[in-house]
Amino acid sequence: MSLDLPAKGCRETPVLKERGQREVFCGLTSIVWLHRKMQDAFFLVVGSRTCAHLLQAAAGVMIFAEPRFGTAILEEKDLAGLADANTELDREVARLLERRPDIRQLFLVGSCPSEVIKLDLHRAAERLSAIHAPHVRVLNFTGSGIETTFTQGEDACLAAMVPSLPATQARELLVVGALPDVVEDQMVDLLAKLGIGPVRILPAHRSAETPAVGPNTVFALVQPFLGDTHAALVRRGARHIPAPFPFGEEGTTAWLRAVADEFGVSRDHFEAVTTAPRARAQKAVAAHAETLRDKTLFFFPDSQLEIPLARFLARECGMRPLEVGTPYLHKELVGPDLDLLPEGPVLSEGQDVELQLDRQAAAAPDLTVCGLGLANPLEARGFTTKWAIELVFTPVHFYEQAGDLAGLFSRPLRRKALLKGGAA
Ligand code: SF4
Repeated sequence: MSLDLPAKGCRETPVLKERGQREVFCGLTSIVWLHRKMQDAFFLVVGSRTCAHLLQAAAGVMIFAEPRFGTAILEEKDLAGLADANTELDREVARLLERRPDIRQLFLVGSCPSEVIKLDLHRAAERLSAIHAPHVRVLNFTGSGIETTFTQGEDACLAAMVPSLPATQARELLVVGALPDVVEDQMVDLLAKLGIGPVRILPAHRSAETPAVGPNTVFALVQPFLGDTHAALVRRGARHIPAPFPFGEEGTTAWLRAVADEFGVSRDHFEAVTTAPRARAQKAVAAHAETLRDKTLFFFPDSQLEIPLARFLARECGMRPLEVGTPYLHKELVGPDLDLLPEGPVLSEGQDVELQLDRQAAAAPDLTVCGLGLANPLEARGFTTKWAIELVFTPVHFYEQAGDLAGLFSRPLRRKALLKGGAA
């Protein structure tokens, strides 16, 4: 299979860089999907009541068993002395671990309040690891809204794990990024049918399955927001397999092809394994492409999925992206997607929300992808919107989800058309 490259892609397109006010969730939001994925981990947010409310609102309603996240709330009085705050933290952790022997990995998650920023959570994690090893490993990362947008929480978490991964000399494929279990199983099945293995996954379901890393590790990313994790793995000697991200039929095929080439899989065998799921994915996408074709599209920066999604929507669904905004543009990671995205859209990195709202109003797109905070005001102005956060809470990767991914974008347009029809 060879990719049908556009006459000119977007890799060399100048990027509009904005560093103003932004409207996105903080990295704590990642805990909502990470705690489901890592079954013997606990996420202890060191934060304020606001952080506790965010987590409860975002995830609390979905918890039926004992939760695997919590908040150690720092009160004003804790400002009195950091030594006291550390003692309090140690006590909270000891209490938690005594009550919950199932916890094997504990993440101390930093947040915004200044009293938290002053605490050295890295040292706290080292101190607590020494106390609770070998049963529990304690790590730290930040989910602060000052430093992270919502998908960066996952990047910070995985990057924090990399230095402590065991070393190996084995030639192994490491797949990096949290996927819903059903999607991960499909991916592992496809790789197995291609004869690629052994396959390790970061993050693993349980700490006993933690992957090792070394100079013969090759890794493929399934999420485009893992810039720090990518850098941390390269520092451990692992080699990245650059590829478009596995969204849609084309993205999935290109991703698998890049991995298959690395492992010397023949063209014939690749075709034999992928032909049927490719056809299923194309058919499922086509059903939605009827609604999406020739519609214009505007991305506000939010999930960091924007560039691969713009590539999917432009090439497989016939949409016309006008602006593709992303919080950070890592060319090393999304370069292959930029090569495939036909030139035309403005690429913007970061945000100055008022300026971007002006550009969006002038462009008057058929569909605007944005965060929850912007969606309601834009809908009130008559624009059709898609909430970016749904893209990370819905299974959207690989062949069997390609139709659902297209459906996430066609549904609001269909709804709008129905409403218009009803009103007419
Ligand atoms: S980390 Fe910051 S932005 Fe996130 S909930 Fe806590 S205070 Fe708010």
